[in-house]
Amino acid sequence: MEIDLDLAGRRVLVVGGAPASRLAIARVLHAGASVFLASVSHPAGPAHPVPAAVHRIALPRTRTAWRELLSAVDLVVIIELPRAAETTLRAAARDRRVWIVRESPAATSPIGHVTLAGGGPGDEGMLTLAAREALRRADVVFFDRLAPQARGRDWAPGAEWVDVGKTPGHHAVPQAEIERQMVDAALAGRTVVRLKGGDPFVFGRGGEEVAACRAAGVPVTVLSGVTSAIAVPAAAGIPVTHREVSRMFTVVSGHAPLDDATVAHLIGLDGTIVVLMGVNTLPHLAAALTRNGMPSDMPLAVIERGLTPGQRTTITTVGESTEMAARLGVRSPAILVIGEVVRLCHDDDAALREVAAFAAGR
Ligand code: SAH
Repeated sequence: MEIDLDLAGRRVLVVGGAPASRLAIARVLHAGASVFLASVSHPAGPAHPVPAAVHRIALPRTRTAWRELLSAVDLVVIIELPRAAETTLRAAARDRRVWIVRESPAATSPIGHVTLAGGGPGDEGMLTLAAREALRRADVVFFDRLAPQARGRDWAPGAEWVDVGKTPGHHAVPQAEIERQMVDAALAGRTVVRLKGGDPFVFGRGGEEVAACRAAGVPVTVLSGVTSAIAVPAAAGIPVTHREVSRMFTVVSGHAPLDDATVAHLIGLDGTIVVLMGVNTLPHLAAALTRNGMPSDMPLAVIERGLTPGQRTTITTVGESTEMAARLGVRSPAILVIGEVVRLCHDDDAALREVAAFAAGR
């Protein structure tokens, strides 16, 4: 059962050590409540300072003392408490008819943990439950430009959000620096989430980040994400495989132009070709495909900003794609899909509008 409580203006008592309680405290503060923290004797520790807004109080020892405290609060969140003390607290809470919830403690080991989480192509609905749970537990989130983060504060109210986003041709934070910051945060005992667009291992440099963590002795987990290579064509109604049309798909980086031998191999596979980071090299690719024998009327789809409100699908052909893309001002991020499956596209409202506009302009 999930109950959504409006805690704005309420008084919430969190019971537990400050480090173990830090995520619950952040969430409750984010919900607009006043927070009282009753702990035994755990120091906060430099890695996890207690926010100034939290009122710290000593842990009551008797049922009477608990009752007195509970008369001033609306909700109790137990993070950690010795069993005998919990029994006394629960009895007092029954007397006062105050609600109690329990939450698992936040990680407090000296070395933290890094989770590389795939965020999907941009729409938050494509974020996996595992990624959401990792965010809930994060102290710090390093996120990329294409990762979903609009509601980050709700998913990870306790976390510091660090933008290490790259824009094409401009590396906002160099890769080595991202790795250094992630590793340093984990070595300081923090729970780190590296939130990446799509899947971390599809052109996401995830492998390098895992290696950096391993080299530093930092435990690391990878959570796969929904890759734009499949989800963005799907959002335009294009299946990357389809019975009797295409029985394979190849996902290619268009970051640098492909040589003729590679292009000839791709054509020889006779499957669907999906190109990421391919906007700038599209003229080169289209020319190479034609030069190596692909029919110039082979359908080609360009899907820009897939799964966002600004999604635009353009259906063209290999032969006309360069001129069409230039005329329409196609921009990154975009996915190119080349192959017969493009004929199955049924996001054709937008697509047909673009084709009509293009034809009218000629
Ligand atoms: N790891 C990512 C890909 C990173 S490379 C994944 O699995 O999706 C970045 C490229 O992904 C972009 O240049 C673009 O080609 C593609 N891309 C990512 N998100 C996209 C989106 N919402 N719409 C269109 N293309 C997208």
